Amino acid sequence: MTQHTIDIDKANEELKDATAHEVLHWVYRTFEPSRVKLSTSFGAEGSALIHMLISMGIMPRVFFIDTCRNFQETYDVWHEFTERYGLKVESFGPDPADIAELTREHGPNMFYADVESRKLCCYIRKVKPLKRALADADAWIAALRRGQSEARAGTPIVSFSEEHGVYKICPIAKWSEEDVWEYVRNNNVPYNALYDKGFPSIGCAPCTRPVRPAEGKRASRWWWEEDPRKECGIHIEDGKVVRKPKGGSYSI
Ligand code: SF4
Repeated sequence: MTQHTIDIDKANEELKDATAHEVLHWVYRTFEPSRVKLSTSFGAEGSALIHMLISMGIMPRVFFIDTCRNFQETYDVWHEFTERYGLKVESFGPDPADIAELTREHGPNMFYADVESRKLCCYIRKVKPLKRALADADAWIAALRRGQSEARAGTPIVSFSEEHGVYKICPIAKWSEEDVWEYVRNNNVPYNALYDKGFPSIGCAPCTRPVRPAEGKRASRWWWEEDPRKECGIHIEDGKVVRKPKGGSYSI
């Protein structure tokens, strides 16, 4: 649990018109740099933030939640950051015992069965590893944008995650998709090759697909579900999104 006490309202007022660079400077001034961690799925937004910090002379502590169901193209971006910038990425994966039980009880493609099953898989492969990833952090930089989905429309620049006991900072909350790509192209940032294949966002291979222009961007994820506010649980402060299946013994 962080020892900092930040006035969230004051911080958001102070940073409401700040650029992403200015927000990042605020983060590294406010918190002990070794206790600041940036999460990425190696989508364009996360890649832009990693590049921005490196260009500011800050080698960030970056972590990746490796669900063990990612696309090869995603590992390729990680590898390119390592090769080009010497970036060391901390990887956090699911507990092998959880995966063994999940797949033994429900099969490897159980996430297609219903929303509860899908959320259980996301919980085991993403949310539980995230808890471990943030255990030694005071500040969590996330590459969320308000325009990404209905559920993210109210994303503040600074908030406090009760679930993880860290301050959460979203420096590009105000950015549009165009802003992201302008930054990526202008700075020759490594980006995920899936975008050139019609994927609007990057997630797990079985649950992410390319979309046609007429479809909404979030139709790329969990397209078999109807709720437009669908999220994996990483960015939702709601411990009730997952129910233990009958007979399951996952520690939640
Ligand atoms: S996105 Fe799909 S494969 Fe990945 S953790 Fe969630 S349900 Fe499982």
